[in-house]
Amino acid sequence: MWNQKIECMDRAEIEQIQLENLQATLNRVYKNVRHYRKVFREKDFMPEDLESLSDLKKLPLITRRDLSENYPYDMLAVPLREVVRLHMASVNFDDPIVIGFTRNDIVNWGELIARNLTAAGVTKDDVLQIALTFGIITGPFGVQVGAEQIGASVIPMSAAKLHDQVKIMRDFKTTVLVSTPTVAMGLIRKMEEMDMDPRGLALKYGILGSEPWSESMREEIETRLQIIATDTYGLTELFGPGVAWECPAKNGLHLAEDHFIPEIIDPVTLETLPPGARGELVLTSISKEAFPLIRFRTGDLTTLDYSPCACGRTHCRISRIFNRCDDVIVVKGTSITPDQIGRLIKKLTGGRPVFQLVIEQVERQDRLMVLLEISDRTFFDEMKKQRIFVERLHRELSEFLGWEVIVRLVEPGTFDSSQKVLDKRQLK
Ligand SMILES: [Zn+2]
Repeated sequence: MWNQKIECMDRAEIEQIQLENLQATLNRVYKNVRHYRKVFREKDFMPEDLESLSDLKKLPLITRRDLSENYPYDMLAVPLREVVRLHMASVNFDDPIVIGFTRNDIVNWGELIARNLTAAGVTKDDVLQIALTFGIITGPFGVQVGAEQIGASVIPMSAAKLHDQVKIMRDFKTTVLVSTPTVAMGLIRKMEEMDMDPRGLALKYGILGSEPWSESMREEIETRLQIIATDTYGLTELFGPGVAWECPAKNGLHLAEDHFIPEIIDPVTLETLPPGARGELVLTSISKEAFPLIRFRTGDLTTLDYSPCACGRTHCRISRIFNRCDDVIVVKGTSITPDQIGRLIKKLTGGRPVFQLVIEQVERQDRLMVLLEISDRTFFDEMKKQRIFVERLHRELSEFLGWEVIVRLVEPGTFDSSQKVLDKRQLK
């Protein structure tokens, strides 16, 4: 364990830390962030009104929309000169959100990742290959800081080609792969193509996340790469990876309760649900300096489990996340909404395009197909014009998402137009 004292604290100690740090966070956001000051006043709530953790329920929930309405800097709780890093929650400029980190925020993030990596089996003797994109989305930066805190060696491969990933993995004797499950599956296939036996590699562990992945996919990755693969959960608005992670018991992901207070709500009535009930995860950050979030709706559906874990860690566990309660879908590690795709199609067609997003897994890789109904605006007498239109739509969508999309023009009535998304992946 990386920080046994904290990770094995008893419940009373955890709650004491939570109450103290929540109180300090509320004072800070009330003083420094106009949005919080306004919504607290609307509820007639002053930070000093907080007497126990259950008072948290009295505060309003916050959504991604609130954050993007305060773009770029209005949610920061510190002056910009104290911010040492700026990230965004999405690569496109629809509903942008800027997240700031102070020096302490980065140190805390590293500490959380160090706990995550240690729980997954990593020690200072390991060589980590980080195959997540280093860019404006927070992603792997924290993994690098955390690995360096442990003293492991980091190879920041980012989104390099699979062939190069495999070659480095072999030559540098990588022992830990940090990536999305999709990339892990891609590597397995690339090794087959290169006629390479994964068992000849030094690889021992896989720390995989950023998208939902099934138990059967885990089994396949573990068997074919001969590794132990664990799930990790995070979200850019809070840090990136390093919010919750699996221990060797693999029976849920321990959530860092000294940094976050979790709640489960009914996504429709917004009522708080008791432990064990399935609902939307709401998180309050109690250590963040630059970008604290009070009762943030994650959109992820899960349960909370406070029962003891075989590993000895006392922080509660969230169940693995396969679904969301809003219309965000995660494909190839990218969060998209049908609205975003609709706006893009509309730019080319005008009117109200009728479309459906079909998501499938082909050889364990996500595939997105956009079905677009033929209308006056998309029907051309000349085949050539039609082909140019489809090619242009394909190019625009693929550029927007950063990976290949399939586009098909279909006859009206081919699909149920009230269903914007047809997710055929079997995640559980
Ligand atoms: Zn555990």
